[in-house]
Amino acid sequence: MQTLSDLARAAGVVGAGGAGFPTHVKVSAQADTVIANGAECEPLLYKDTELMTRAAPQMIAGLRASMAAVGATRGVIGIKQKRHAAVAALQAALTGSDLELLLLGDYYPSGDEYELVHAATGRLIPPAGIPLQVGCVVHNVESLWWLADAAAGVPAVDKWFSINGAVARPQTFLTPVGVRFAELLEFCGGATVPDPVALIGGAMMGRFTDDWQQPVTRTTGGLIVLDRSHPLIQRKTKPVAQMHRIGKSACDQCSYCTELCPRYLLGYDVQPHKVMRTLGFTASGGVNWSQWGLLCCACGICTLYSCPESLFPKEACDQAKTDLRAQGITWQGTGRELRPHPLHEDRRLPVKKLVARLGLAEYNVPAPWTAERPAARVLEFALNAHVGAPAEPRVQPGERVRRGQVLAEIPDGKLGARVHCSVDGIVQAVGARIVVETA
Ligand code: SF4
Ligand code: SF4
Repeated sequence: MQTLSDLARAAGVVGAGGAGFPTHVKVSAQADTVIANGAECEPLLYKDTELMTRAAPQMIAGLRASMAAVGATRGVIGIKQKRHAAVAALQAALTGSDLELLLLGDYYPSGDEYELVHAATGRLIPPAGIPLQVGCVVHNVESLWWLADAAAGVPAVDKWFSINGAVARPQTFLTPVGVRFAELLEFCGGATVPDPVALIGGAMMGRFTDDWQQPVTRTTGGLIVLDRSHPLIQRKTKPVAQMHRIGKSACDQCSYCTELCPRYLLGYDVQPHKVMRTLGFTASGGVNWSQWGLLCCACGICTLYSCPESLFPKEACDQAKTDLRAQGITWQGTGRELRPHPLHEDRRLPVKKLVARLGLAEYNVPAPWTAERPAARVLEFALNAHVGAPAEPRVQPGERVRRGQVLAEIPDGKLGARVHCSVDGIVQAVGARIVVETA
C-alpha cells in the first residue's frame, strides 16, 4: 500500500510558503505536533486567507493525513485573529474536532516557523535547526490542501494566488501553475502606474522582478505590483556593493536593528549591528564577516523598518551568510542562553505600522476572491522551483500532453520534486523550463 509520502512524491507536493521543500520528505518523519501555517504575515497578500475561507475542509483533511503519517497527536492551525471569515470557516469545519486553532495577533513575522512553533508549543527550535528537532512539522496551508488532493491521486497543478498593489483590480484566485505574470496582470485589469515592476511573494521578503514573462510556480505566493520609482523598489534594487558602502560610512552602531530583530527577541543570537560593525574594517567581507548574522531569517525588519539611517543590515547579514557558508564556516554558538527576551511580546511589529513605513498605505486594500480563472495560451513550467535537484524532462517538443501528466521527474536517488502539466496542450520547447501551448 502506498504511504502518504509516496502519494505526495507522486503528486509533486512542495512547501508552498517558502523555498519549496519537497513535502514527501516532511511527511515521512516522526513528530508529535503538526502545525498548519496560515499566518500569512506579509502585508497585502490574501491567498492563504482565501484558501482557509473557501476550502477549510480540504486543508483540514490534509492536516489530518499529515498527522497520521508522522504519528502526531496534536494538530494546530495558526491564523491571524483578524481574518474573521477564515476563522469562522475553520471553526465551522472543526466543530467537534480535537484540532486546535491558534489565533495570532496582527504582527510581522508571525508566520516565521521559529515564531509559530514557539507560539504553538512553547518550544524553541535549536539555533540553525529545524522544527523536527523539537517534535514539530510545519506545513503551509496550501501544501496541506495539495496533500489532501495527493491522497486522492491528484497532482499539485493549481495555485492560490493574490495580486495587489498598483493594479486596477486587486484579486485572489486559483490559477494553473505555469501561467506567465503578464497574463495575470492583464487578468487583474492591468497596472495603474507607468512603469510596473513586482515583488514576488510579498513586500518584505519578496524578490524583485521586472520580467513579466516569468511563470507562476508552486512556490509563488503572489505579486505586489508597484512603480519602479516607488521608494521600496528603489531600496530593494540598490546594488549590494552600494548598500555596504553606505553602511560602512553611516552606521552609528545605535543597535536598533538588533533590538527590534524578531529572532534576537525570540532568544537567538542574531545581532545585525555587529555584522554592520564588520563593514567598518578595511577588509570586510569574506571570512571577516562576523557570525552574528548566521541565524538571521531574512525577514527584512532591520533594513525596512528599524534602522533610523535607512541602512541595509539585512543585506549585510545575507552577504555574511553567503560568504561564511562558502568557506564552510557554520554557526559556532555564542553561549547566549536560548530564552525569549523579556520584551519579546512588547516589541512585536504591528503590520499596520509596517505598511505605513513601507509606503504601501494607499495599496493596503483587500484582494477579493474571484472564482474566475486566468486563461493562458502559453504556459511555462520551471524545473528547478523547489529545493533539491532540478527535475528531468520526460516529454519531447511536439508531444501532446494532458493536465496532470508528468512533465519532469525527480532524478534517481536525489532530493527533488516532480513537475506536472496544468493544462491540456502541446509541448513547444524543453529546456530549463518546459513550454506548453494549450490545445
Ligand atoms: S540600526 Fe542602522 S545605524 Fe543603527 S546599528 Fe543598525 S544598521 Fe547601524
Ligand atoms: S533580517 Fe534583520 S531583523 Fe530580520 S532576522 Fe535578519 S537580522 Fe533580524
